Order: sequence, then structure tokens, then C-alpha cells
Amino acid sequence: MSTCRLVVVGAGITGLTAAWEWRRTHPDGAVVVLEAGDRIGGKLNRVELAGRWYDTGPEAVLARVPEAVELIEALGLADQLVPARTTQASIELPEGRFPLPAGTLQGVPTSADGLDGVLTPAGVARVRAEADLPPLQLDGDVSVGGLLRERLGDEVVDRLVEPLLGGVYAGRPDDLSLAATMPALAAQLPAATSLLGAALAARDAGARSRGDADGPVFVTVREGIGSLPAALVQASGADVRLCTRVTALRRTAGGFELDVAGGATLTADAVVLATPAGPTAELLADLAPDAVEPLHGIPYASMAVVAMAFPEQPVAAGSGLLVPPVTGRLVKGVTVSSSKWPHLDGALRVRSSVGRFGDDAALHRPDDELTAAVVADVADLLQLERAEPVQTELVRWTDGLPQYLVGHPQRVAAIRSAVAEVPGLAVAGAAYQGVGLPACIRDARRATQSLD
Ligand SMILES: Cc1cc2nc3c(=O)[nH]c(=O)nc-3n(C[C@H](O)[C@H](O)[C@H](O)COP(=O)(O)OP(=O)(O)OC[C@H]3O[C@@H](n4cnc5c(N)ncnc54)[C@H](O)[C@@H]3O)c2cc1C
Repeated sequence: MSTCRLVVVGAGITGLTAAWEWRRTHPDGAVVVLEAGDRIGGKLNRVELAGRWYDTGPEAVLARVPEAVELIEALGLADQLVPARTTQASIELPEGRFPLPAGTLQGVPTSADGLDGVLTPAGVARVRAEADLPPLQLDGDVSVGGLLRERLGDEVVDRLVEPLLGGVYAGRPDDLSLAATMPALAAQLPAATSLLGAALAARDAGARSRGDADGPVFVTVREGIGSLPAALVQASGADVRLCTRVTALRRTAGGFELDVAGGATLTADAVVLATPAGPTAELLADLAPDAVEPLHGIPYASMAVVAMAFPEQPVAAGSGLLVPPVTGRLVKGVTVSSSKWPHLDGALRVRSSVGRFGDDAALHRPDDELTAAVVADVADLLQLERAEPVQTELVRWTDGLPQYLVGHPQRVAAIRSAVAEVPGLAVAGAAYQGVGLPACIRDARRATQSLD
């Protein structure tokens, strides 16, 4: 397939990485990227905030797995990588603010030590009492919340795991799949007798496999992670067509045909669908009908991010605050970017998000009202002395994050196997095996490789 024409649908990080990978591995091949929106990047987006580029989508990438950092380096942007200056966040609770306990696995404790304050004395005792429960027995996938409530009590879920896992998925632990969102923990459970033991084993296995535990955990890009899409387009030389929504996909004798809104039809030798689950289901209705139902089983959470710049002033909140629903607050987290990232100095730059899966009432407010309410909540949480922002930017992420509900791995397996029946077709993206950028990049690579 060295000279063939690949059409990628969707110009998010997944689609643009697939295009870049294809050109890298097929120098004579052509790549067209069709994007429904009027800009490249999908969830990657940056705004100018008080004179600096500032991300309103992803703002950090995990550096303890290689994919994102390697891609940034391969794009010639190694000198743009900035390690986080601090990652010490705190949890806001009705009783006060507590540093995030060290050594948890996405909020799941590995012992009852170090939990005082974040959990009440009764909550800590409940964690310690896991040793007295009958040995752990699991049959298939379960919800994170269901298992943890049973083994460690409600407080671990509502005060620790919800803000951490909820921050990544904008989802609720009671809905989310253990196997899909905590695969390292799930892998240890069959051999473990206790959940704490499994969490400890998973944490140690992760540390061993990473080897170099000294490097930064998170990095960002000086000009914004939102600068990567343009760099990918430039490096791939892809023909990117904006405002081009694909409405139908068909098999032909020689390859594929794609209809786009407005009436045009394009041909392709191979196709990567790097679109969210809903549009992917529509496009696969005829070609891979068995993928449709499992794709519809992947709903999305909507949220809004408010980026704020305040006059420079000291705040004592480390890299930020996790704000679980038990606080009754509007916002679900505050990132103090000017503390977290050294290049964002000179003003107090903060971002805060609103909205979770199944809880989007606040998102119905008009822009001005929502922004004002978020600013007020943030000013109160950070105890700002100069609480009048010099600039605010509201970005709405409707259907921003896929929800990996119980049974997600089975859904993904069914989708992949239905798509594999169609040679020359692949699906990739945040809907499947990881919402973070490294996972999307990995999935884009897997998709392009599967076409050869
Ligand atoms: C607010 C927020 C903060 C986040 N923070 C982080 C973070 O700090 N670190 C991290 O690693 N990850 C983070 N994530 C997750 C990560 O950004 C996303 O999972 C990832 O960017 C998704 O990329 P994607 O290419 O798979 O999908 P998308 O970015 O959704 O791209 C899909 C594209 O397909 C297009 N499309 C849809 N239908 C069609 C059609 N029919 N025809 C043509 N085009 C179509 C869409 O317009 C879109 O541009 C965050 C996500 C959000 C929303």
C-alpha cells in the first residue's frame, strides 16, 4: 500500500497523528484529513491569556509513558517541553483542605496510613478493616465505585477517587469500568486477597516497569499543547479540509467512497475514522453494523473550562485543588497554572472546569453568568485579595470526554473485531483504550499499522 491514498476522518490529535504516521511510513502515499469543524485539533485548543498561550483543552501530558513526549520530540519541539514545577495538589472537602495523600493509585489507597484528614477517623478505620473482610472475589468487570465502596467504604470513593478519576473522565466512579479505567489494579485483583494488597502490587509493578522514576511525571508545551496540531499538519504535509463533515462511508470495488455534507464524494484506498463514538457509529452503519451498538454504549460527558488571568498575587494552593461534589461547589477543580508551569508567570493564570457526566445543569447557564459564577467560586477557593480578573475565556466542551462504563473492554473488543472484517478500515481515538494524549497517539499508530 505504499502509494495509496489514506483518508482520515477527524482532525483531533488521533487523526492528525494517524496522518503523520502514514506519511512517515508511506513517503509516496497521499493523506487527506476531513474535519467537520472550522479548526484543526479537536479537543486540543489554546487561547491567548494575558499575553501567553494558554491551553483550554489538555494542558499536561503524562511523561512516564513515552508516546506524547516522543511525538513532540519527533516534531522538533523538544526545546518546548516544560516539566511541571509542582504537582502537589490538595483536595477541598467540607471540613477543609488537605494535601492529596502520596502513594495512592488514582486515589485508591495502598494502606490506611496517611489518610487522616482526607478521610474521617471512621473512614480510615473502614479502610483498615478491609483486612477483616472475606477474600476478594471478582467475576468480570465491575464499577470502580461499586467495588471500592464494598471493600473500603464510601469515603474513599467520594473524597479521594471521585476527584482524581472524575477529573480525568469527568465521570462518576459508580459508573466507570474498573477494567478500563484502572487496568493496572484490575490486573492484580485475580491473584490478590485484598483490594489494598492489589493496589500496592499495582503501584509497585508500575514503578518497576517505569524504571526511571526520577523524571517528571507531567510535562507541557511552552506555546501550548494546542500548538501541536499545526506542527503535525506541517510535518505530515496532509491535505486538511475543514468544515467538511463526512456523512456516509461505503465500500467500492477498489476501496472506499466518502460522502461529505454539501454533496461531494471522495475516494480512498484506506480510511481511519478518528471521530468520537457517535459519529463513528453513524459512519459504520452499513460497513460494520456489529460495531454500532457497542459504539452507542460509549456516552460522553460535557464540561466547560474557564481560563482566568488575575493580577499577580500569592496563592497557597500548589498546582491546584480537586473539588469533589461532596463540597457542593460549582467547580470540580482549579488548576493554578502559574504555579504549576514556570513559563506561565507574570500574572495569576488559573483554569477551572464545570460539569460532570450526568450533571450538566450548570452548563445551561449563559456564558456571562457561568463565567461570573466560576470566577466567584475560584476567588473564594483561592482566597484571592485581588479577585477581579483581567481576562476570562470560556470554552465549552460539549461531549468532551468518553465514559468508559462497566463492560467497556468488551465493547471495544466487539468494535475492533467488527471493523477488522473490513480490510483497509480502522478506527482510533479517545473512545477506545485511553482518553489521555499518549493513549490517543498509541491508538493512531496501531490504526495506521493495521492498514498495511
Ligand atoms: C477539557 C479537557 C481537558 C483535558 N485534559 C487532558 C490533559 O490534560 N491531558 C491529556 O492527556 N488529555 C486530556 N484530555 C483528553 C484529550 O484531550 C482527548 O481525549 C483527546 O484530545 C481526544 O482526541 P481525539 O483525536 O481522539 O478526538 P477529538 O479531539 O474529539 O477529535 C475528533 C474530531 O473529529 C471531528 N469529527 C467528528 N465527526 C466528524 C465527521 N462526521 N466528519 C469529520 N470530522 C468529524 C471532530 O470535529 C473533532 O475535531 C482533556 C480533554 C478535555 C475535553
